[in-house]
Amino acid sequence: MKKINILIIFFTELPKMPSHYCRQRSAKVYLEYNFSSKANLYRVYVNKCEESNIEHVSYCTFSNTFENLNLSLFSPKKDQCNICVAHKAGNIPESDYTLHIQLKDRARAEKSADKEKAKEGKCLAFVMDVQAVKLCPVNNANKFYFKTRLKVHNFTIYNLKTHHCTNYWWNETEGDLSSSVFTTMIIDHLNEHCDNDLPIVLWSDGCPYQNRNAVLSNALLQYAVNHKKLVIQKYLEPGHTQMECDSVHSLIERKLHNREIELPTDYVKVTREARLKPAPYDVKYMRHSDFRNYDLRNQMAYQSIRPGKKAHDPTVTNLREIHYEPEGKIQIKLQFNDELTDLPQRVVKNPSLMPVFDEKLFTDRLKIAKTKFDHLQELKSTLAAEVQGFYDNLSYE
Ligand SMILES: [Zn+2]
Repeated sequence: MKKINILIIFFTELPKMPSHYCRQRSAKVYLEYNFSSKANLYRVYVNKCEESNIEHVSYCTFSNTFENLNLSLFSPKKDQCNICVAHKAGNIPESDYTLHIQLKDRARAEKSADKEKAKEGKCLAFVMDVQAVKLCPVNNANKFYFKTRLKVHNFTIYNLKTHHCTNYWWNETEGDLSSSVFTTMIIDHLNEHCDNDLPIVLWSDGCPYQNRNAVLSNALLQYAVNHKKLVIQKYLEPGHTQMECDSVHSLIERKLHNREIELPTDYVKVTREARLKPAPYDVKYMRHSDFRNYDLRNQMAYQSIRPGKKAHDPTVTNLREIHYEPEGKIQIKLQFNDELTDLPQRVVKNPSLMPVFDEKLFTDRLKIAKTKFDHLQELKSTLAAEVQGFYDNLSYE
């Protein structure tokens, strides 16, 4: 086989990160294992060739092939904004860019105003976001380069006034990334941390399955009706979704530096250590039995949150603000400067008659792929004997 083909196989076999769930589409493919540099990855490749008595390519060829395959060593916390990047390269009209910047600044100003209102005791304001995917186990054993590992997620909800925040951690055997999973955590959070009559404002990016869908909207409407208070969702401008959760995530990342992770629960420990003042971060470790099924279409008051009906009408991605009224109505804005209007969708069920969503979303832990199970069995041998049982008990397809 040609040297170059062997190199391409080497790159193909390296596990890749799942594409950025909610972020802007990026053509880059990120490697799962955190190589410190391209030179470091080259050494791994050269060692592998030497072990098999194969001739290796030069660093220059290695590097060019890496670039041609669109590979990248690090996944950025937030992708760069496509519009801003295109503008820098001179690829979009000035007027489009100006409008984009106006919208970005308008969203920022709106969020600052909500923070001020929260400080004045006029509302409760939260921001929420997921951290970049983590993996388990993590250590320095060489075996890890080519092995797929368990995915572990953290969804953070942060109070803009008190700086209290809760980090909801779960691994892929306990829950997926469906809207019911996120809805469970958001509703639990409101039930536990909003014990007064103040309106609630929830800021996030516009990721559809996470923050902007009919499942979550019906659950928030039910919460507003049952608790007789106003709930408002607002969305940051795509490409500019930096928020307070990012500082939480970077403090956690800093603590994770050079840290070995043997079990998903090790992320809970690290999160508690990541901040000491004014208090350690709140953490909840979610199990499959904690998640409830909110995706019961025939029980929902609104079947859809689409702000239009015809082909060229606005879509869900155009929503900037959604109000869930205690009287059972959903109102929307497509621009922060707009007046509120009724969501143009028929109410098919009286919102106060929506059932209690207490059906379990998963009857059992979720299965992983057989190849991942096999890889984890191999990796297990590098871990302490006490934790190996966890990997024995995973179920696979
Ligand atoms: Zn931008």
